[in-house]
Amino acid sequence: MTSAAAVFGLLQGIIRKYAENYRDLESEVEFHDSLGRSAADKIKNYYVWASFAEKALNKIGHNHVKTIRGSIETQNFFRFDNQDRNKLRNFFGTQDNFIIGFVFRNQLRKSVPNLLDGFKIFTQNNPDAKAKLLLHTHWSEGWDILKLLKEKNIERTDILTTYFCSSCNRYDIKPFEGQKIKCKFCNQNNSSETTNVKNGVDERQLNEIYNLMDVYCHPFTSGGQELPIQEAKLTELVTLVTNYSCGEDCCTDESGGLPLDWTEYREPGTQFIKATTSPISISSQIEKVYKMPEEEKRSKEKKSRQFVLENYSIEKIGKQFEDLIDSFSDVEFDYKKEQEIRNIHFEPDNSLPDKEWVESLYENILGHYSNYHLAHPYIGKVKDRANDIFISPYKLFSDTKWLFRANRSSFLETKSRKE
Ligand SMILES: [Zn+2]
Repeated sequence: MTSAAAVFGLLQGIIRKYAENYRDLESEVEFHDSLGRSAADKIKNYYVWASFAEKALNKIGHNHVKTIRGSIETQNFFRFDNQDRNKLRNFFGTQDNFIIGFVFRNQLRKSVPNLLDGFKIFTQNNPDAKAKLLLHTHWSEGWDILKLLKEKNIERTDILTTYFCSSCNRYDIKPFEGQKIKCKFCNQNNSSETTNVKNGVDERQLNEIYNLMDVYCHPFTSGGQELPIQEAKLTELVTLVTNYSCGEDCCTDESGGLPLDWTEYREPGTQFIKATTSPISISSQIEKVYKMPEEEKRSKEKKSRQFVLENYSIEKIGKQFEDLIDSFSDVEFDYKKEQEIRNIHFEPDNSLPDKEWVESLYENILGHYSNYHLAHPYIGKVKDRANDIFISPYKLFSDTKWLFRANRSSFLETKSRKE
Protein backbone atom coordinates (compact mmCIF):
# COMPACT_ATOMS: atom_id res chain seq x y z
CA MET A 1 0.00 0.00 0.00
CA THR A 2 2.80 2.39 0.95
CA SER A 3 4.62 1.97 -2.34
CA ALA A 4 1.38 2.27 -4.28
CA ALA A 5 0.64 5.50 -2.44
CA ALA A 6 4.14 6.72 -3.20
CA VAL A 7 3.73 5.96 -6.89
CA PHE A 8 0.36 7.68 -6.84
CA GLY A 9 1.85 10.73 -5.15
CA LEU A 10 4.72 10.83 -7.61
CA LEU A 11 2.41 10.60 -10.59
CA GLN A 12 0.17 13.30 -9.17
CA GLY A 13 3.31 15.40 -8.72
CA ILE A 14 4.33 14.91 -12.32
CA ILE A 15 0.86 15.79 -13.49
CA ARG A 16 0.77 18.89 -11.30
CA LYS A 17 4.10 19.99 -12.75
CA TYR A 18 2.85 19.67 -16.30
CA ALA A 19 -0.51 21.19 -15.52
CA GLU A 20 1.26 24.24 -14.14
CA ASN A 21 3.55 24.42 -17.15
CA TYR A 22 0.86 23.91 -19.72
CA ARG A 23 -2.23 25.57 -18.38
CA ASP A 24 -1.60 28.58 -20.60
CA LEU A 25 -0.46 26.58 -23.61
CA GLU A 26 -3.07 27.67 -26.06
CA SER A 27 -1.83 31.21 -25.99
CA GLU A 28 1.82 30.61 -26.67
CA VAL A 29 2.62 28.88 -29.93
CA GLU A 30 6.35 29.25 -29.65
CA PHE A 31 6.27 27.96 -26.11
CA HIS A 32 4.39 24.92 -27.45
CA ASP A 33 6.91 24.29 -30.11
CA SER A 34 10.03 24.66 -28.05
CA LEU A 35 9.01 23.28 -24.69
CA GLY A 36 5.66 21.60 -25.15
CA ARG A 37 6.56 19.61 -28.20
CA SER A 38 9.90 18.38 -26.96
CA ALA A 39 8.53 17.41 -23.55
CA ALA A 40 5.31 15.89 -24.90
CA ASP A 41 7.16 13.78 -27.44
CA LYS A 42 9.32 12.21 -24.76
CA ILE A 43 6.46 11.38 -22.40
CA LYS A 44 4.68 8.17 -23.29
CA ASN A 45 1.79 8.53 -20.85
CA TYR A 46 1.13 12.21 -20.59
CA TYR A 47 -1.67 13.49 -18.35
CA VAL A 48 -2.89 16.99 -17.66
CA TRP A 49 -5.34 18.30 -15.06
CA ALA A 50 -7.91 19.94 -17.27
CA SER A 51 -9.46 19.17 -20.66
CA PHE A 52 -8.46 22.67 -21.73
CA ALA A 53 -4.79 21.61 -21.70
CA GLU A 54 -5.60 18.27 -23.35
CA LYS A 55 -7.39 20.03 -26.21
CA ALA A 56 -4.57 22.55 -26.62
CA LEU A 57 -1.95 19.79 -26.88
CA ASN A 58 -4.15 17.60 -29.11
CA LYS A 59 -4.51 20.56 -31.44
CA ILE A 60 -0.77 20.63 -32.10
CA GLY A 61 -0.61 16.90 -32.72
CA HIS A 62 -0.03 15.36 -29.28
CA ASN A 63 -2.96 13.02 -29.42
CA HIS A 64 -1.64 10.85 -26.58
CA VAL A 65 -2.22 13.60 -24.01
CA LYS A 66 -5.15 12.82 -21.71
CA THR A 67 -6.84 14.48 -18.74
CA ILE A 68 -6.71 13.04 -15.23
CA ARG A 69 -8.03 15.51 -12.69
CA GLY A 70 -6.58 16.06 -9.27
CA SER A 71 -8.39 13.79 -6.84
CA ILE A 72 -10.53 15.16 -4.03
CA GLU A 73 -11.64 13.77 -0.69
CA THR A 74 -15.41 13.88 -1.17
CA GLN A 75 -16.48 13.02 2.39
CA ASN A 76 -15.62 16.42 3.89
CA PHE A 77 -18.03 18.48 1.85
CA PHE A 78 -21.79 17.88 1.71
CA ARG A 79 -25.07 19.75 1.90
CA PHE A 80 -26.76 20.00 5.29
CA ASP A 81 -30.47 19.31 5.54
CA ASN A 82 -32.69 22.39 5.53
CA GLN A 83 -33.07 22.47 9.29
CA ASP A 84 -29.31 22.58 9.89
CA ARG A 85 -28.83 25.08 7.09
CA ASN A 86 -31.37 27.41 8.66
CA LYS A 87 -29.84 26.97 12.10
CA LEU A 88 -26.43 27.93 10.70
CA ARG A 89 -27.82 30.96 8.87
CA ASN A 90 -29.69 32.12 11.95
CA PHE A 91 -26.50 31.84 13.98
CA PHE A 92 -24.67 34.24 11.67
CA GLY A 93 -27.76 36.41 11.08
CA THR A 94 -27.88 35.78 7.34
CA GLN A 95 -31.25 34.01 7.19
CA ASP A 96 -32.85 36.81 5.14
CA ASN A 97 -29.97 37.30 2.72
CA PHE A 98 -29.15 35.80 -0.65
CA ILE A 99 -25.50 34.83 -0.22
CA ILE A 100 -23.07 34.72 -3.12
CA GLY A 101 -19.84 33.02 -2.06
CA PHE A 102 -16.24 32.92 -3.27
CA VAL A 103 -13.52 30.89 -1.54
CA PHE A 104 -10.05 31.91 -2.68
CA ARG A 105 -6.51 32.81 -1.84
CA ASN A 106 -6.37 36.57 -2.33
CA GLN A 107 -4.21 36.48 -5.44
CA LEU A 108 -4.39 38.85 -8.37
CA ARG A 109 -5.50 36.07 -10.75
CA LYS A 110 -8.76 35.84 -8.78
CA SER A 111 -10.93 38.51 -10.38
CA VAL A 112 -12.14 40.39 -7.29
CA PRO A 113 -12.80 43.78 -8.97
CA ASN A 114 -14.93 42.09 -11.66
CA LEU A 115 -16.89 40.20 -9.01
CA LEU A 116 -17.52 43.38 -7.02
CA ASP A 117 -18.77 45.13 -10.17
CA GLY A 118 -21.03 42.18 -11.02
CA PHE A 119 -22.33 42.02 -7.45
CA LYS A 120 -23.13 45.73 -7.50
CA ILE A 121 -25.13 45.43 -10.72
CA PHE A 122 -27.03 42.47 -9.26
CA THR A 123 -27.89 44.29 -6.02
CA GLN A 124 -29.07 47.37 -7.94
CA ASN A 125 -31.32 45.25 -10.16
CA ASN A 126 -32.53 42.98 -7.33
CA PRO A 127 -32.82 44.96 -4.10
CA ASP A 128 -35.29 42.40 -2.72
CA ALA A 129 -32.60 39.74 -2.67
CA LYS A 130 -30.80 41.60 0.17
CA ALA A 131 -27.70 40.08 -1.36
CA LYS A 132 -24.43 39.71 0.48
CA LEU A 133 -21.13 38.73 -1.05
CA LEU A 134 -19.16 36.34 1.15
CA LEU A 135 -15.45 36.60 0.37
CA HIS A 136 -13.74 33.78 2.24
CA THR A 137 -10.21 35.13 1.89
CA HIS A 138 -7.42 37.08 3.59
CA TRP A 139 -7.72 40.86 3.47
CA SER A 140 -4.05 41.58 4.09
CA GLU A 141 -2.62 40.26 0.84
CA GLY A 142 -3.37 40.57 -2.87
CA TRP A 143 -6.29 42.83 -3.69
CA ASP A 144 -6.94 45.79 -1.38
CA ILE A 145 -10.61 44.89 -1.04
CA LEU A 146 -11.49 47.72 1.33
CA LYS A 147 -10.10 50.28 -1.10
CA LEU A 148 -12.02 48.67 -3.96
CA LEU A 149 -15.27 48.89 -1.97
CA LYS A 150 -14.78 52.61 -1.36
CA GLU A 151 -13.82 53.21 -4.98
CA LYS A 152 -16.83 51.28 -6.29
CA ASN A 153 -19.18 52.79 -3.73
CA ILE A 154 -20.23 49.42 -2.32
CA GLU A 155 -21.52 49.26 1.26
CA ARG A 156 -18.87 47.62 3.45
CA THR A 157 -21.63 45.77 5.29
CA ASP A 158 -22.76 44.08 2.06
CA ILE A 159 -19.49 42.20 1.92
CA LEU A 160 -19.04 39.42 4.45
CA THR A 161 -15.84 37.61 5.28
CA THR A 162 -14.52 34.84 7.52
CA TYR A 163 -12.73 35.72 10.73
CA PHE A 164 -10.71 33.01 12.43
CA CYS A 165 -9.55 33.07 16.05
CA SER A 166 -6.12 31.57 16.63
CA SER A 167 -6.90 31.30 20.34
CA CYS A 168 -10.12 29.23 20.34
CA ASN A 169 -10.08 28.10 16.66
CA ARG A 170 -13.64 29.27 16.04
CA TYR A 171 -14.73 31.32 13.07
CA ASP A 172 -17.14 34.16 12.56
CA ILE A 173 -18.86 35.49 9.44
CA LYS A 174 -19.27 39.26 9.33
CA PRO A 175 -18.25 42.41 7.44
CA PHE A 176 -14.57 43.36 7.54
CA GLU A 177 -13.60 45.23 10.72
CA GLY A 178 -9.82 45.27 10.51
CA GLN A 179 -7.25 42.70 11.59
CA LYS A 180 -6.23 41.36 15.01
CA ILE A 181 -9.58 42.08 16.61
CA LYS A 182 -11.15 40.74 19.79
CA CYS A 183 -12.77 37.31 19.48
CA LYS A 184 -16.45 37.32 20.40
CA PHE A 185 -16.34 33.67 21.44
CA CYS A 186 -13.37 33.55 23.81
CA ASN A 187 -12.97 37.31 24.43
CA GLN A 188 -9.27 37.12 23.64
CA ASN A 189 -7.86 40.46 22.43
CA ASN A 190 -6.06 40.64 19.05
CA SER A 191 -6.71 36.97 18.29
CA SER A 192 -9.13 37.15 15.38
CA GLU A 193 -8.21 37.93 11.78
CA THR A 194 -9.45 37.13 8.29
CA THR A 195 -8.84 33.50 7.40
CA ASN A 196 -5.42 32.89 5.89
CA VAL A 197 -2.88 30.18 5.17
CA LYS A 198 -1.40 30.39 8.67
CA ASN A 199 -4.61 30.68 10.68
CA GLY A 200 -7.64 29.30 8.94
CA VAL A 201 -10.69 27.12 9.17
CA ASP A 202 -10.58 23.34 8.89
CA GLU A 203 -12.58 21.24 6.44
CA ARG A 204 -15.54 20.83 8.78
CA GLN A 205 -15.80 24.59 9.24
CA LEU A 206 -15.28 25.30 5.56
CA ASN A 207 -18.12 22.91 4.77
CA GLU A 208 -20.35 25.00 7.04
CA ILE A 209 -19.29 28.15 5.22
CA TYR A 210 -20.26 26.66 1.85
CA ASN A 211 -23.60 25.75 3.43
CA LEU A 212 -24.19 29.43 4.20
CA MET A 213 -24.10 30.20 0.47
CA ASP A 214 -26.98 30.25 -2.03
CA VAL A 215 -24.73 30.29 -5.08
CA TYR A 216 -21.00 29.99 -5.66
CA CYS A 217 -19.18 32.38 -8.01
CA HIS A 218 -15.56 31.87 -9.13
CA PRO A 219 -14.27 34.44 -11.62
CA PHE A 220 -10.56 34.04 -12.42
CA THR A 221 -8.01 34.77 -15.12
CA SER A 222 -6.83 31.15 -15.56
CA GLY A 223 -5.94 28.19 -13.38
CA GLY A 224 -4.95 24.54 -13.03
CA GLN A 225 -8.00 23.06 -11.28
CA GLU A 226 -9.44 25.52 -8.71
CA LEU A 227 -10.31 23.24 -5.82
CA PRO A 228 -12.98 25.45 -4.20
CA ILE A 229 -15.18 25.04 -7.28
CA GLN A 230 -15.29 21.29 -6.70
CA GLU A 231 -15.78 21.71 -2.95
CA ALA A 232 -18.70 24.06 -3.62
CA LYS A 233 -20.19 21.53 -6.02
CA LEU A 234 -19.90 18.80 -3.38
CA THR A 235 -22.03 20.96 -1.08
CA GLU A 236 -24.60 21.13 -3.89
CA LEU A 237 -24.21 24.70 -5.03
CA VAL A 238 -24.74 25.96 -8.56
CA THR A 239 -21.28 27.18 -9.55
CA LEU A 240 -20.72 30.20 -11.77
CA VAL A 241 -17.29 29.82 -13.33
CA THR A 242 -15.31 31.76 -15.92
CA ASN A 243 -15.58 29.79 -19.15
CA TYR A 244 -11.83 29.65 -19.76
CA SER A 245 -8.85 27.47 -18.87
CA CYS A 246 -9.77 24.75 -16.34
CA GLY A 247 -13.03 26.65 -15.77
CA GLU A 248 -14.38 25.18 -19.01
CA ASP A 249 -14.86 21.83 -17.24
CA CYS A 250 -16.87 23.22 -14.32
CA CYS A 251 -19.27 25.67 -15.96
CA THR A 252 -21.16 23.20 -18.16
CA ASP A 253 -24.77 22.22 -17.59
CA GLU A 254 -23.80 18.59 -16.90
CA SER A 255 -21.41 19.83 -14.18
CA GLY A 256 -24.16 21.82 -12.47
CA GLY A 257 -22.48 25.05 -13.50
CA LEU A 258 -23.20 28.20 -15.43
CA PRO A 259 -20.57 29.88 -17.62
CA LEU A 260 -19.31 33.41 -17.06
CA ASP A 261 -18.39 35.34 -20.21
CA TRP A 262 -14.95 36.87 -20.47
CA THR A 263 -12.76 38.92 -22.76
CA GLU A 264 -9.14 38.33 -23.56
CA TYR A 265 -6.20 40.26 -22.21
CA ARG A 266 -2.51 39.47 -22.34
CA GLU A 267 -0.33 38.93 -19.33
CA PRO A 268 2.62 41.31 -19.49
CA GLY A 269 5.84 39.40 -20.05
CA THR A 270 4.57 35.91 -20.85
CA GLN A 271 1.97 37.29 -23.30
CA PHE A 272 -0.30 34.39 -22.29
CA ILE A 273 -3.98 34.80 -23.00
CA LYS A 274 -5.83 35.55 -19.77
CA ALA A 275 -9.52 36.04 -19.15
CA THR A 276 -11.14 39.09 -17.63
CA THR A 277 -14.66 38.11 -16.60
CA SER A 278 -17.62 40.26 -17.61
CA PRO A 279 -19.37 41.91 -14.62
CA ILE A 280 -22.62 41.96 -16.62
CA SER A 281 -22.35 38.21 -17.13
CA ILE A 282 -21.62 37.72 -13.39
CA SER A 283 -24.70 39.76 -12.52
CA SER A 284 -27.00 38.04 -15.01
CA GLN A 285 -25.90 34.53 -13.99
CA ILE A 286 -26.37 35.34 -10.29
CA GLU A 287 -29.80 36.64 -11.20
CA LYS A 288 -30.56 33.48 -13.16
CA VAL A 289 -29.87 31.36 -10.06
CA TYR A 290 -31.71 33.80 -7.78
CA LYS A 291 -34.83 33.59 -9.95
CA MET A 292 -34.50 29.91 -10.80
CA PRO A 293 -37.56 27.84 -9.82
CA GLU A 294 -36.74 25.77 -6.72
CA GLU A 295 -37.13 22.41 -8.43
CA GLU A 296 -34.84 23.35 -11.31
CA LYS A 297 -32.29 24.78 -8.88
CA ARG A 298 -32.23 21.65 -6.72
CA SER A 299 -31.81 19.47 -9.78
CA LYS A 300 -28.83 21.54 -10.93
CA GLU A 301 -27.35 21.53 -7.43
CA LYS A 302 -27.55 17.75 -7.21
CA LYS A 303 -25.86 17.49 -10.61
CA SER A 304 -23.02 19.58 -9.20
CA ARG A 305 -22.20 17.03 -6.52
CA GLN A 306 -22.65 14.06 -8.84
CA PHE A 307 -20.26 15.59 -11.36
CA VAL A 308 -17.46 15.82 -8.78
CA LEU A 309 -18.10 12.30 -7.47
CA GLU A 310 -17.82 10.96 -10.99
CA ASN A 311 -14.87 13.02 -12.16
CA TYR A 312 -12.73 14.03 -9.18
CA SER A 313 -13.21 11.47 -6.38
CA ILE A 314 -10.21 9.50 -5.11
CA GLU A 315 -12.04 6.30 -6.10
CA LYS A 316 -12.42 7.43 -9.72
CA ILE A 317 -9.01 9.05 -10.13
CA GLY A 318 -7.22 6.25 -8.25
CA LYS A 319 -8.87 3.72 -10.56
CA GLN A 320 -7.50 5.56 -13.58
CA PHE A 321 -3.99 5.24 -12.16
CA GLU A 322 -4.55 1.59 -11.24
CA ASP A 323 -5.66 0.83 -14.78
CA LEU A 324 -2.70 2.72 -16.14
CA ILE A 325 -0.17 0.89 -13.98
CA ASP A 326 -1.83 -2.47 -14.69
CA SER A 327 -1.59 -1.78 -18.41
CA PHE A 328 2.22 -1.57 -18.30
CA SER A 329 4.17 -4.65 -19.35
CA ASP A 330 6.39 -6.46 -16.84
CA VAL A 331 9.89 -5.11 -16.39
CA GLU A 332 13.00 -7.13 -15.51
CA PHE A 333 15.01 -5.41 -12.81
CA ASP A 334 18.56 -6.36 -11.87
CA TYR A 335 18.58 -6.29 -8.09
CA LYS A 336 22.17 -7.51 -7.77
CA LYS A 337 23.60 -4.04 -7.64
CA GLU A 338 26.86 -3.75 -5.75
CA GLN A 339 26.73 -1.74 -2.54
CA GLU A 340 28.48 1.56 -3.11
CA ILE A 341 30.92 2.65 -0.43
CA ARG A 342 30.73 6.17 0.99
CA ASN A 343 33.33 7.98 3.01
CA ILE A 344 31.10 9.77 5.45
CA HIS A 345 34.04 11.07 7.48
CA PHE A 346 35.57 13.18 4.74
CA GLU A 347 36.27 16.74 5.82
CA PRO A 348 36.25 19.16 2.89
CA ASP A 349 38.99 21.70 2.34
CA ASN A 350 37.05 24.95 2.58
CA SER A 351 39.91 26.96 1.08
CA LEU A 352 39.25 25.39 -2.34
CA PRO A 353 37.47 27.43 -5.03
CA ASP A 354 33.79 26.51 -5.45
CA LYS A 355 34.15 24.21 -8.45
CA GLU A 356 37.07 22.27 -6.99
CA TRP A 357 35.34 22.17 -3.61
CA VAL A 358 32.26 20.49 -5.09
CA GLU A 359 34.38 18.12 -7.18
CA SER A 360 36.33 17.15 -4.09
CA LEU A 361 33.06 16.12 -2.41
CA TYR A 362 32.25 13.76 -5.23
CA GLU A 363 35.75 12.34 -5.43
CA ASN A 364 36.22 11.83 -1.74
CA ILE A 365 32.77 10.88 -0.58
CA LEU A 366 31.47 8.93 -3.53
CA GLY A 367 34.85 7.96 -4.93
CA HIS A 368 33.87 8.63 -8.53
CA TYR A 369 33.18 12.18 -9.46
CA SER A 370 32.57 11.63 -13.17
CA ASN A 371 29.71 9.18 -12.73
CA TYR A 372 27.57 11.65 -10.85
CA HIS A 373 28.50 14.85 -12.55
CA LEU A 374 25.36 16.17 -14.24
CA ALA A 375 23.47 13.10 -13.13
CA HIS A 376 20.59 14.87 -11.43
CA PRO A 377 20.42 18.39 -12.79
CA TYR A 378 17.04 19.20 -11.29
CA ILE A 379 17.67 18.41 -7.68
CA GLY A 380 20.49 20.65 -6.66
CA LYS A 381 22.59 23.25 -8.30
CA VAL A 382 25.87 24.69 -7.25
CA LYS A 383 27.12 27.51 -9.34
CA ASP A 384 30.52 29.00 -9.84
CA ARG A 385 31.27 31.91 -12.08
CA ALA A 386 32.62 29.96 -15.02
CA ASN A 387 30.53 26.82 -15.04
CA ASP A 388 27.31 25.44 -13.70
CA ILE A 389 28.04 22.34 -11.72
CA PHE A 390 25.16 20.11 -10.87
CA ILE A 391 25.22 17.87 -7.87
CA SER A 392 22.75 15.35 -6.62
CA PRO A 393 21.77 15.92 -3.01
CA TYR A 394 19.95 12.59 -3.06
CA LYS A 395 23.18 10.77 -3.73
CA LEU A 396 25.45 13.10 -1.89
CA PHE A 397 23.47 14.29 1.09
CA SER A 398 21.75 11.06 1.96
CA ASP A 399 24.96 9.57 3.27
CA THR A 400 26.81 12.71 4.21
CA LYS A 401 24.97 14.78 6.76
CA TRP A 402 28.09 16.83 7.38
CA LEU A 403 27.48 18.92 4.30
CA PHE A 404 24.87 20.90 6.17
CA ARG A 405 27.35 21.48 8.95
CA ALA A 406 30.01 22.65 6.53
CA ASN A 407 28.42 26.07 6.45
CA ARG A 408 28.66 26.29 2.70
CA SER A 409 24.92 26.43 2.15
CA SER A 410 25.26 29.79 0.41
CA PHE A 411 26.44 27.89 -2.64
CA LEU A 412 23.18 26.05 -2.98
CA GLU A 413 20.79 27.91 -5.18
CA THR A 414 17.51 27.20 -3.52
CA LYS A 415 15.79 30.26 -4.86
CA SER A 416 14.77 28.64 -8.09
CA ARG A 417 13.04 25.83 -6.24
CA LYS A 418 11.14 28.07 -3.87
CA GLU A 419 7.41 27.41 -4.17
ZN1 LIG B 1 -11.58 32.98 20.17
